[in-house]
Amino acid sequence: MKWLVNGRLFDGELLREGLCDLVIDKGRVAKIAPAGRFVPPEGATRIDLDGRILAPGFIDLHAHLRDPGQEWREDIISGSRAAAAGGFATVVAMPNTDPPIDRSSLVRYVLERGQSAGAARVLPAGSVTKGRHGQELAEMWFMANEGAAIFTDDGLPVSTAHLLRTALLYADDLGMAIMEHPEELSLTKDAQVNDGPCAARSGLKGAPKAAELIAVERGIALAKDTGAHLHLTHLSAKESLEAVRRAKKDGINITCDVTPHHLTLDESLIEKSGYSAAYKVNPPLRTAHDLEALWEGLADGTVDAIATDHAPYHLDEKDLPFQEAASGIASLECAVAVVLDAWLKRGKPFGIERLLRLFTAGPASVLRKSDLGRIEEGSVADITALDIGRERRVEAKRWESKARITPWEGAALCGWPVMTMREGKVIWVDGDSRLHAERD
Ligand SMILES: [Zn+2]
Repeated sequence: MKWLVNGRLFDGELLREGLCDLVIDKGRVAKIAPAGRFVPPEGATRIDLDGRILAPGFIDLHAHLRDPGQEWREDIISGSRAAAAGGFATVVAMPNTDPPIDRSSLVRYVLERGQSAGAARVLPAGSVTKGRHGQELAEMWFMANEGAAIFTDDGLPVSTAHLLRTALLYADDLGMAIMEHPEELSLTKDAQVNDGPCAARSGLKGAPKAAELIAVERGIALAKDTGAHLHLTHLSAKESLEAVRRAKKDGINITCDVTPHHLTLDESLIEKSGYSAAYKVNPPLRTAHDLEALWEGLADGTVDAIATDHAPYHLDEKDLPFQEAASGIASLECAVAVVLDAWLKRGKPFGIERLLRLFTAGPASVLRKSDLGRIEEGSVADITALDIGRERRVEAKRWESKARITPWEGAALCGWPVMTMREGKVIWVDGDSRLHAERD
């Protein structure tokens, strides 16, 4: 049993007035009361939050854990620990592994490996098509029964509108969403950067924003046609946000997420960094203009979640000239601080509750998991404690993740998670935070 005292409680919707105490018993929130109102249960471990925010365990909808098949980049154990160390109690593992997660036995493999890590809950995403070949639908029903949380061919869009439409209808029957990686591939072949000033000056091939918008519009049209839930992941362009905003106004069943890197980095940094591959990502970093549009999307509710798209690589695949390096930014362990720090530096452009929902209730609703993303008496005791005032440097060499290259290396960021709890168990605590939590 645990007794968390003096926390500022964000319950998934609102930040409550005053400080709260919580009793955690058998993996659930047994009691919530104003601070100091009741006697601690006998034998309970007391954790003093000292005024820090106590939020539902953060959920990352989109991370690459590279297991099975590419464990030199990451594996489910290192990825799940990295998620916990980043403040995430739940992480959704993308299915573009080797072999891809396209059948129930592989869904079970990911779940079991996740269990044995004893860190963040790992929810497998199943692929939409067999082998991610885009030819034929995978066995979605069997995967859903085994515990797949969402379906996606991420890394690629679902190959044809016909397959995406059929997949949406199946997923809808299963009460689940399809997560789409929006990219019109005929426009992005060999692209390295955004089709903008950086491409013009460097001669690197550019990916136009239209490549994203075309796929976004295709998805919206099919969500409208089927009434099924389509989730668009890692949106990067102003036009994409505008399309989603319109679709939501029309009542279409669309949700979307954006990444910490598209919210904080723009293409000018590629040149400034001397073409460091740490900034190479797909979709590419766009213009400062697009970045502002993403923040507007957070502010007005167009964006439902912030997802990392954590893409770990071995040094040999990333520490290379820009053109030769793999695309992807590793971020699980600093993503929350990257976003909080940017939100603080922007002068808190919207309320903290809206920001916190993007890591909690927002992603929970995309996954249709009503038991996650909120704190109330009886709910699962997944908890992230946040210290908005805490400053710390990003040091990839201390990461649980196997990735070592990140664009924020050395950056002093303000606003870090200090403890992550899953089902009442402390799965990570910041050793320097003066938070006296016991790791069980
Ligand atoms: Zn993707």
